[in-house]
Amino acid sequence: MKFCEVAMPKFKLFLALASGFWLTLCPATAHASSEGDSIPAAAPDPQIVAALKAVSPQRIQQTIEKLVSFHSRHTLSSDVPAATGKGINAAAEWIGSEFESYSKACGGCLEIKTDEFTQEPGTRIPKPTKLTNVYAILHGSDAANASRIFLVTGHYDSRNTETNDAVGASPGANDDGSGTAVSLECARVLSKYKFPATIIFLTVAGEEQGLYGSAHFAKMAKAQNWNIEAVLNNDIVGGDRTPGSTTQDPHTVRVFSEGIPATATEAELKLIRALGGENAGASRQLARYIAGISKEYLPAKEFHPLVVFRKDRYLRGGDHTSFNEQGFAAVRFTEYRENYDHQHQNVRTENGVEYGDLPKFVDFDYAANVARVNAATLASLASAPAPPAKVRVLTKGLQNDSTLVWEASPGGMATGYLVLWRDTGAPDWEHAQAFGNVTQATMPVSKDNVVFAVQTTDAKGHRSLPVVPAPER
Ligand SMILES: [Zn+2]
Repeated sequence: MKFCEVAMPKFKLFLALASGFWLTLCPATAHASSEGDSIPAAAPDPQIVAALKAVSPQRIQQTIEKLVSFHSRHTLSSDVPAATGKGINAAAEWIGSEFESYSKACGGCLEIKTDEFTQEPGTRIPKPTKLTNVYAILHGSDAANASRIFLVTGHYDSRNTETNDAVGASPGANDDGSGTAVSLECARVLSKYKFPATIIFLTVAGEEQGLYGSAHFAKMAKAQNWNIEAVLNNDIVGGDRTPGSTTQDPHTVRVFSEGIPATATEAELKLIRALGGENAGASRQLARYIAGISKEYLPAKEFHPLVVFRKDRYLRGGDHTSFNEQGFAAVRFTEYRENYDHQHQNVRTENGVEYGDLPKFVDFDYAANVARVNAATLASLASAPAPPAKVRVLTKGLQNDSTLVWEASPGGMATGYLVLWRDTGAPDWEHAQAFGNVTQATMPVSKDNVVFAVQTTDAKGHRSLPVVPAPER
């Protein structure tokens, strides 16, 4: 092992991780090797392994079929009483009752809430319209970490060919019954466990009319100073399986993320341009984290995320953007290949082609794998210590070494830190160096040649999101 040997040979302390990796913990301000190690795999957490095993394609199928049974979940159907069993109000009530049933099974561990408001007329909203976001909170079990929030969301509203047709059937099995089902399934399996930080399972309305539900929710979170560390938006994650089609990849889910934060100030943009930070925003870090966690918990051959360096698909948008616009790290999950005959289309057959977003085109095993990636990410992050604060790289003089400083991770769960780095052209982290409970590290690697980040770790191998340093003179 190379770690710390030059500067501090007497202080070598080895930590065996269950995965078989050996890391050396270096004492404060130790010099590190220029090569570091490949990124060490964390030991899978048995609690998370058990939660993922409980994810059920059958439950996801039942959820999607139930959502479809409301005939339409169009946002503009919110004047149809829930008692009719049709329309978006009936769907919202059912989602709430489903959260209640999960909570009952865990001794009332979930707090179920609605965020109801009247959306004033705007694009695709012809008259004042009631919107209801439905969500469940699994409060963190550790007082010092419960204010940290991780959130998973899907939109439960649906649409067909005509944007404002609130009457015609719009089953929305894939778009976005599948994302709603992922949020619910994560709630069902994760509510059986306790996590130090808080997880919110959200389902929003108004997406198809213009992201109205998520925008309202994200603004509320910002106004109330919620400490949301990550948002996972699932939209069209049903893995469309059109009979006869050979172009779908049932092993891959795309993860879209913004590279430059939507809320970057002029001064921040100037720094991003100067230092090549276009690929280093917090949402992009979250996307990389998801890919890493997925590798630890799911056999990559069976299922893996494809990290796309793009905020969203061409001409499309989604609820993660609402969170980005309030300054939160947020990504979007979407199936590998969409079938546009099965989204935003009236249910019909024309020239032998079946149109419409029906459950029969959803691959429930695929959606279950997407739920597993989401649950593994949420559980890993909610088990991990908070990221280090105020991470900086010192730029006082012209030096080839790089000194990183940070403030200790708040919340008392940190036992160490990982300094990560990669070539500026590399898509993902390439090297890591483990340190103990220190707040400074000097790396014999030029900051001009690489991108650094610092990540908090705990004794069980949980890791926070990495934080890229800001320059400090
Ligand atoms: Zn959608």
